[in-house]
Amino acid sequence: MTPEGSIVDGPKAWLQRLPSTDRLLQGAAAQVLVRAHGATLVTGEARALLAEARQCVLAGAVPPWLQSSDPLHALGDALAQRCAARLAPQLKRIVNLSGTVIHTNLGRAVLPDVAIEYVSAMMRAPLNLEYDLAAGARGDRDSIVEGLVCELTGAEAATVVNNNAAAVLLVLAALAREREVIVSRGEQVEIGGAFRMPDVMASAGARMVEVGTTNRTHLHDYARSITPATAMLLKVHTSNYAVQGFTSAVTEAELAPLARERGVALVSDLGSGALIDMTRLGLPKEPTPQEMLSAGCDVVTFSGDKLLGGPQAGLIVGRKDLIARIRSFPMKRAMRLSKLPLAALEATLRLYLQPELLTTHLPTLRWLTRAQDDIARTARSLREPLQLALAPRYTVSEAALISQIGSGSLPVETLPSAGLAIAPVQAGKKGTGTALEALTVALRGLPCPIIGRIADDQLLLDCRCLDDANEVLSQLPALQRALA
Ligand SMILES: *Cc1c(COP(=O)(O)O)cnc(C)c1O
Repeated sequence: MTPEGSIVDGPKAWLQRLPSTDRLLQGAAAQVLVRAHGATLVTGEARALLAEARQCVLAGAVPPWLQSSDPLHALGDALAQRCAARLAPQLKRIVNLSGTVIHTNLGRAVLPDVAIEYVSAMMRAPLNLEYDLAAGARGDRDSIVEGLVCELTGAEAATVVNNNAAAVLLVLAALAREREVIVSRGEQVEIGGAFRMPDVMASAGARMVEVGTTNRTHLHDYARSITPATAMLLKVHTSNYAVQGFTSAVTEAELAPLARERGVALVSDLGSGALIDMTRLGLPKEPTPQEMLSAGCDVVTFSGDKLLGGPQAGLIVGRKDLIARIRSFPMKRAMRLSKLPLAALEATLRLYLQPELLTTHLPTLRWLTRAQDDIARTARSLREPLQLALAPRYTVSEAALISQIGSGSLPVETLPSAGLAIAPVQAGKKGTGTALEALTVALRGLPCPIIGRIADDQLLLDCRCLDDANEVLSQLPALQRALA
């Protein structure tokens, strides 16, 4: 409640003007709200509104509506606003102009339309999630996508869980609990948050045996460390950092004969795991599960919502006997994919059966492969309207930018892009910082928040992921109001 207005009459007189909850609820505005939302929510908000007003008055301030010529009407408006605020969704669409295509904080991959439509159709009715329609008997939800995953990766078998972190944990627990897992010191990855390889090993009850050094690990390092207690050699794709210079790592193809000879499993955590050869799209090389399997890995894990471009999921592919052990391990039940992402994953994977459609229908690959001049065209169409909205405090210019793939993939690989650079007009480091802060706050406060990135005292808006300039243009009046 904004403490506004002077108290001429004293608190007592104002308090007497407050209607009772019942009177408020009988008003026309409240009745409309009750019909829309039911009495429970509206009554609760009416009580809260009046209690706040009472406190406000007792504290020496008068709410503006109480001073209006028709308080009951004004109160109805205030009540409508409260109900709307109470019901406001917590998730908001974002306009991602950060330049990072697969942004974990912004929900990673955006689903293809076919997946969204399939999910919404499948969630409206019961479905054959775990029901074998041919046999008329209980089925396994993995079978919804297992065939597709095997066809696309060349795996003998596949299972899916909630995310790749769960996939790694499950594989370690199912195949290496109370046994040893050998991993290179160069692959002690932290993915962000609490996902650190040593901690994951401990959670899975596996004993981690580190070999080699940060920059160099050799085949004989692995060979020497294998004991009767060894269950697994684990390779972790160092997706979010690169060790450069005097380095050496042992490839999966080199490890496979050793693993086979000594009777231990070779497992690869790929992280992103592209399902197609990214270089064919002009993108940086990213290892595929199919390459890992043909190199001799027994099990490969990867994410559903990184380069694959689907929902959050963890895919586990590999040898039939090992996948069967993983699938029947009790922890799997706690990590199983729900029908919502399972449907989205199935629809996304079906797109991969039509690879020619991927760069148009799969947003992640469409954005990653978008031509720089096309991105620049979008930026150009925004420059003048944005300049008009931000004058005279800011100057807006077109800029060549560098996008990132994101989500830990390929940190050293970047994509030439285009966008806008917005610089505050006033001089002085402090003034620039304040003006940039004001602008980013205003952009974040829009109905559909716009997220850019700050670099070199400018706000950069990378237009790579902006399909429709209207997502920005339509919000310019609101931006101007916010900055006024
Ligand atoms: C991203 C990543 C994970 C975790 O995958 P989520 O799908 O985020 O759970 C694990 N390992 C590697 C190498 C990764 O890049």
